[in-house]
Amino acid sequence: MCDRGLVNRIIPFSCVDGPGNRSAVFFQGCDFHCRYCHNPETQNLCIGCGRCVKECPVGALSMDGDQVRWDSEICCGCDTCLKVCTNSSSPKVRWMSVDEILKELDHALPFITGVTVSGGECTRYDRFIARLFDRVHQLGKTAFCDTNGQRLFGQMPELTAAMDKAMLDVKAWDPDIHRRLTGQGNEAVLKNLDDLLKLGKLYEVRTVVIPDYLDNEETVRQVSRKLTAFSGVRYKLIKYRPWGVRPPMKVQSPTEGYMKDLMALAYENGAPEVVIT
Ligand code: SF4
Ligand code: SF4
Ligand code: SF4
Repeated sequence: MCDRGLVNRIIPFSCVDGPGNRSAVFFQGCDFHCRYCHNPETQNLCIGCGRCVKECPVGALSMDGDQVRWDSEICCGCDTCLKVCTNSSSPKVRWMSVDEILKELDHALPFITGVTVSGGECTRYDRFIARLFDRVHQLGKTAFCDTNGQRLFGQMPELTAAMDKAMLDVKAWDPDIHRRLTGQGNEAVLKNLDDLLKLGKLYEVRTVVIPDYLDNEETVRQVSRKLTAFSGVRYKLIKYRPWGVRPPMKVQSPTEGYMKDLMALAYENGAPEVVIT
């Protein structure tokens, strides 16, 4: 379906989803199942099991055949439904058209630089998002894509043409470590890294750092070498934080010292700009 996309939530104002003040639209469904995911309820589509309907304390959920209906007017935002769902899904999603999304952003548009689509994995809705981005450009705003890189941009020509730039996760360089973290290999991610750089469509690469669990140093070294010739591309190193990770991981967050060592490693290997968050 390309006239609607399944939206998990919309944040009208964000300063962490790309350059400037932005609105962020989060789409439902992801190709990965990252162990450290902070929004696991965005991973899967609802299977209509009804478990959350029984647990909602205010009756905002009901069954309509095999589908869950969510009444946003009644919902108190307690997130009980997300906690009881064993399917990494959410009943609080909406199939939305481009017009409906822009209407919801209407009050924010005068104050934002642009719109970023994220997820879940937004590229599942590539042709719909291309249409959304065309409209975003008509409004004089920029259009960015926050992606896990699992779907090849070379096979999504409309989206690649319509977006200004992408922010790409490179979660691990070693394919086996990537698979242990996400459930999938990283061949497409690394191909996208090369392709987006060549096209001048990469704004930022992101790597979450977990000591003794991921191949942090090798990932930083190899990504930084790729970025050497691309002065406009930023490398963001993100400290693993345990909040929202379900079930909890038995790992440590990195120290400031380790993050600074990785930043130095990135610069040594040619990354033009490195930030730590
Ligand atoms: S959101 Fe989860 S718990 Fe609720 S009906 Fe869908 S799959 Fe079941
Ligand atoms: S967040 Fe979920 S459980 Fe809580 S009121 Fe809303 S629909 Fe019901
Ligand atoms: S790619 Fe992002 S949304 Fe998908 S599972 Fe991993 S962390 Fe979660």
